[in-house]
Amino acid sequence: MNLADETCDHCEGILLGNKAYRVWTEDSGRILLDMVVCYACNLEAQKLGLNSDEVKTIARPSQK
Ligand SMILES: [Zn+2]
Repeated sequence: MNLADETCDHCEGILLGNKAYRVWTEDSGRILLDMVVCYACNLEAQKLGLNSDEVKTIARPSQK
């Protein structure tokens, strides 16, 4: 996967090697939402009270 082609899962803006953030919500240990988003969308997510974490490399884990 080419980092340069990676886009935000929320606004679909190209991340362009900028910092990316993982945003997720969970309920009783069950993941309800899991996205990799740009800086701006991360701020929005934090306002909404979602969990967020900076990611160094954008790798989408294959989750079950
Ligand atoms: Zn975004």
